Amino acid sequence: MAHRDQTQLNPVDTHPVMLGSLVPPSGVKPLNFSPGPTSLAAEVEAAIKALFDAERMCSMYLSHRSPEFLDILASVVQRCRVAMEIPDQYEILCMHGGGHGQFAAVPLNLCPKGDEKATYLVNGTWSKRALSEASKYCRPIVVSSENPDGTFTHNPSFAHLDPESRYVYLCSNETVNGIEMHQLPKLGIKAPLVVDASSDFSTKPIDWVGCNVGVLYACASKNLGHPGVTLCVIRKDLLGTPSKHCPGVLCYTTNVREGNLWNTIATFNVEVINIYLQWLIAQGGVHEMERRSIAKSAMVYNLIDSSEGFYGTPISDPSIRSRMNVPFDVAGGDEETTRDFLIQGWERGIVGLRTLTPFGVGKYLRASLYNGVSEHQVEVLASFMAGFMKAARAKRAYP
Ligand SMILES: *Cc1c(COP(=O)(O)O)cnc(C)c1O
Repeated sequence: MAHRDQTQLNPVDTHPVMLGSLVPPSGVKPLNFSPGPTSLAAEVEAAIKALFDAERMCSMYLSHRSPEFLDILASVVQRCRVAMEIPDQYEILCMHGGGHGQFAAVPLNLCPKGDEKATYLVNGTWSKRALSEASKYCRPIVVSSENPDGTFTHNPSFAHLDPESRYVYLCSNETVNGIEMHQLPKLGIKAPLVVDASSDFSTKPIDWVGCNVGVLYACASKNLGHPGVTLCVIRKDLLGTPSKHCPGVLCYTTNVREGNLWNTIATFNVEVINIYLQWLIAQGGVHEMERRSIAKSAMVYNLIDSSEGFYGTPISDPSIRSRMNVPFDVAGGDEETTRDFLIQGWERGIVGLRTLTPFGVGKYLRASLYNGVSEHQVEVLASFMAGFMKAARAKRAYP
């Protein structure tokens, strides 16, 4: 599939990096800037490996109803509550189905009749996908910032939202487009916020009550662990009225009632989140993650902004630039220079800048700077980018 997509773009280019490979030449240590799934911090990876040497059985084989696993599950919920300062009026679930499962779960849980109005703020590819899935289960009101050419470069207006909406949906970090809400908006209407925080959860604090958050979810594969589990935070007053068509596996009410064990939970992936959160708290918590995210993304944006056009990024307004995913082009998207850039980076272990997405490849590369990417790794990337620019300018007389 991936191979076919790529050959359409460029029928002859079979260099691994042009096919989206994440494996650098043998002997070179990978620096993974992939948009997800992605590497976890080295300490987290080491702790996961150690699970297999531990005396107790690793959660991969533990019954989800055993006391050992129940301890792990309780610990995830507790650590998540502490790390993200989640008030008691919210339930925390580890669910199946990924972000896409939640695109459907949200209306199926919040719109019992199936024709209720729900406002969708669309500021990029993921919120657009969520909207298309939700339109099967509710009556979406669309507030979109899509440009006529299909790109997204700003947020839609938050003014004059329909007060009768059951909820207002938004994506706090558009992973593909590079647009982030560094703080959630305070909309001043009764309808609760529903937030897709799949790619920015745990990287900045959340004002749960002040911003009227009703539901927030994050698939684990960017900033929490590995694919296979999705963290959902649900305000208790929104439980109890799912659509009768809501599958049990996506139903917040059923899963809360059954202590998150209505069916077999993804035991191992849940334990990975437990280790991840333990690491995050030990590092200084979400405020430290935010400090690092600001520092890491500034290294890349500063380099782009001072490159006099050699590198470009589509989002000009710094207040909405994503700290997680930095899209950039090389020499205005020039194919040969971009290819040189990718191959030279790959030779140094820099991988994941060009991955295949369901939304196509496009001219932009993307550096994803999740919590698992260290400040030092971003320094290596920025210094490679600076060196490449210098060499390319010397060779080809770029402006
Ligand atoms: C990755 C991502 C998703 C998709 O999640 P799946 O687990 O692949 O279904 C949804 N929303 C955002 C913002 C993402 O970054």
